[in-house]
Amino acid sequence: MYLDLQTYTRPATMAEALAQLAAPGAAALAGGTHLNVHGHEHLRAVVDLQALGLAGVAREGAKVRIGAMTALTGLVAADLPAGLAALGQAADAEKNRAVRNRSTVGGRISRDRSNGRVATALLGLEAEVELATGGPDGVTRVDLHIASRLHDVATGAAHGVVTAVRVPADVRWSGYLASQLSAVDAPSADVAVSAGPRGVHIATGGHGRGAAGTLALPTTAAAATALLANPPAGDSWRAALREVAVAELPAHGDALVSGDYRRDLAATLVIRLVAACLAAHGGAA
Ligand SMILES: Cc1cc2nc3c(=O)[nH]c(=O)nc-3n(C[C@H](O)[C@H](O)[C@H](O)COP(=O)(O)OP(=O)(O)OC[C@H]3O[C@@H](n4cnc5c(N)ncnc54)[C@H](O)[C@@H]3O)c2cc1C
Repeated sequence: MYLDLQTYTRPATMAEALAQLAAPGAAALAGGTHLNVHGHEHLRAVVDLQALGLAGVAREGAKVRIGAMTALTGLVAADLPAGLAALGQAADAEKNRAVRNRSTVGGRISRDRSNGRVATALLGLEAEVELATGGPDGVTRVDLHIASRLHDVATGAAHGVVTAVRVPADVRWSGYLASQLSAVDAPSADVAVSAGPRGVHIATGGHGRGAAGTLALPTTAAAATALLANPPAGDSWRAALREVAVAELPAHGDALVSGDYRRDLAATLVIRLVAACLAAHGGAA
């Protein structure tokens, strides 16, 4: 809801968009599923990104480039390499169709709090974020690791317009799993795993606040990732993985679930997802 909105613009060039966004009280408008809802009563200008040609999915060399204005529905329908299955699964896990049709990949990694899903999947796939910064005198492209982008957004340090995310096309397999109170709730915990030439990557996320009031971000479970790169023989990796995952995952509690419960749930999801992926892909990480 906007109580003080003075202007709505739909720029045709990135230079115009950046100049308009530099005005006090201006915000970028993508799908509007967050911006149009609440908490933005102070906004004086919205700069609609829809005419900038930022939607679409394309192969670019060793990467797949996903335009920031690609809606979650577009991500589900995209002809992605099989190894990037986690992306479609995370987008499809957003069961509210109205939200899935409108909310965009760029919006998912630009709001002041990430509840996971596409953000978790992008972290599990070691995505790069492409930003446009600058103004009328020139537009500069900046590339950031997804973890830096999510951190900047959560700490209020984000700048520029997200133009795309890029994920490696040579990932062998990936998957996404979430647990939530109901089909339309944000996940209490979610997990993405990928395996490829650069090793195994695990990311977890979910709705929650840290003890100090900090907002929970999707987290890269580094020790669990290292363990899976060289797993113990047989089935003992499950117990070993639970131990390292519980030891390193943050315990963000909120009104819905306690921090301990969320951490235990995330560890369980990691084990289930890894087991399912290993079974589906011949047991090789
Ligand atoms: C019923 C419902 C369920 C929801 N469930 C979830 C959930 O499970 N997980 C979750 O994370 N969110 C959820 N949301 C919140 C919302 O849908 C997401 O945050 C969504 O991804 C926002 O995307 P959007 O394209 O609609 O962005 P908008 O609402 O247009 O913008 C969101 C924010 O991102 C900024 N922004 C958008 N695009 C860009 C860009 N390209 N570059 C720079 N800044 C940009 C905007 O300025 C704004 O601050 C839910 C919302 C509703 C209404």
